[in-house]
Amino acid sequence: MKIKILHLYPKEMNLYGDRGNILALEKRATWRGIKVEVVPYEPGAKIPSDINLIFGGGGQDSSQSLIEKDLQKIAPRLKELIENGVPALTICGLYQLFGNFFETKDGDRIEGTHILNLSTKAGEERLIGNIVIDSLEFGEIVGYENHSGLTSLGEGVVAFGNTIVGFGNNGEDKTEGARYKNCIGTYLHGPILPKNPAIADFLIERALSFSAGKEIELEKLDDGIEALAHESAVARAKTT
Ligand code: GLN
Repeated sequence: MKIKILHLYPKEMNLYGDRGNILALEKRATWRGIKVEVVPYEPGAKIPSDINLIFGGGGQDSSQSLIEKDLQKIAPRLKELIENGVPALTICGLYQLFGNFFETKDGDRIEGTHILNLSTKAGEERLIGNIVIDSLEFGEIVGYENHSGLTSLGEGVVAFGNTIVGFGNNGEDKTEGARYKNCIGTYLHGPILPKNPAIADFLIERALSFSAGKEIELEKLDDGIEALAHESAVARAKTT
C-alpha cells in the first residue's frame, strides 16, 4: 500500500510550518508500514496520474498572485481528482484558492480553482491567534490562524468546524474551514496534523481506499504523546 502526495507549490506556499503536515503524513504512514512518495509540484510540472492525496499550504498575498496563472492551468485536473474522491488538505492561502477567488486588501482579485464553493475578501484587520474549533468528524481541533481573508461558504460546502476560540472563516458566523467530499480546507496552521492526528489518519485512509477501490481501515497507533500535545495546546488557547 502506498500514498502518493501531490504537494502544491512547496516553495511559494509554506507559511507557519505548514510543510510539517507532510512530515506528519509521512510518519503516520511509515509507522504503519505504508510506503510514501511526496511529489513536490512547482509551476509547469506534470501531475502524475496515480496521485491519491493532495496537500497545499498557506502563503502571502504576493505568493498567491505568483501561482495564480499556473493554478488556473491545473484547476480542471485538481477538480477532477477531488470530484473522484481523492482526499485533500488545503491550508489558508491554498484553502482560499481552492474556492472561487480571494480579493486582497488592495482590491486585487486572485482567481481560485472553483473546487470549493466559497469566496474570500480581505478585511481591515488580520485575524491572528490560537484557535480551537469543534468538528463533528474529529472533535476539538487546535491550531493557529493568521489571515486577512474573510471567507463566506456557498451552497454545497459545509464548515470544517465551528469556532470555540478564535475567528475562523470570518470572525462573524462561527464557521471555520470547509468540507466537500474528501477535501478539507482550513485556516489552521500549526501545522495542524501533528496535534490533530485523527485528521492525518482520515487523509491516509481515504487515499489508500481511493487507490484500492475499496474501504481500507488503518490500524490504530499509540497517540499518547500527540494527545498530550493536543491538550496542552487547547488549554493554552483557551486561557490566553
Ligand atoms: N494571504 C492570505 C491572507 O492573508 C492567506 C494567508 C495565509 O496563508 N496564512 O488571508
